[in-house]
Amino acid sequence: MASGALGAAVLAGQGGVGLIHQLNGPWWIEILLAIVLLDLVVYFQHVLMHAVPIFWRLHMVHHSDMDFDVTTGVRFHPLEIALSMFIKIGVVILLGASPTAVLMFEILLNATAMFNHSNVCIPGSVDRILRCDRGHPRHASHSSFRHPARDQSQFRI
Ligand SMILES: [Zn+2]
Repeated sequence: MASGALGAAVLAGQGGVGLIHQLNGPWWIEILLAIVLLDLVVYFQHVLMHAVPIFWRLHMVHHSDMDFDVTTGVRFHPLEIALSMFIKIGVVILLGASPTAVLMFEILLNATAMFNHSNVCIPGSVDRILRCDRGHPRHASHSSFRHPARDQSQFRI
């Protein structure tokens, strides 16, 4: 999946396409903006997965995992993974996100997804940022059609 979005970022950079290319801002602002916007898209994609019945049929594979552990964070229906890849490629081209921004986003997305599903909690203010879901019952019973769990976005932004 990352190679598809990374490939799109390389092509967008070579063609000079995308909204971020028009800003001509500092590189770090462009990277930060791309990461935040990509995370926002992932958030709305997750909401859509819970709100649209046909998408929920795909997404329920993730929420029906009987063993809530780090592998739950990467366990999705293959069609949901493909749909997510196409959405991400489209957004990367629309934004003109740099390969660096896409790589950083993918690392953050996958690391936080695995952490959020790992059943490991860190007390205090770090927990408020990294979003600890405190285990399987919440993930399975509170996550249903039209009621997504807290794992909608990687960060609380
Ligand atoms: Zn969900």
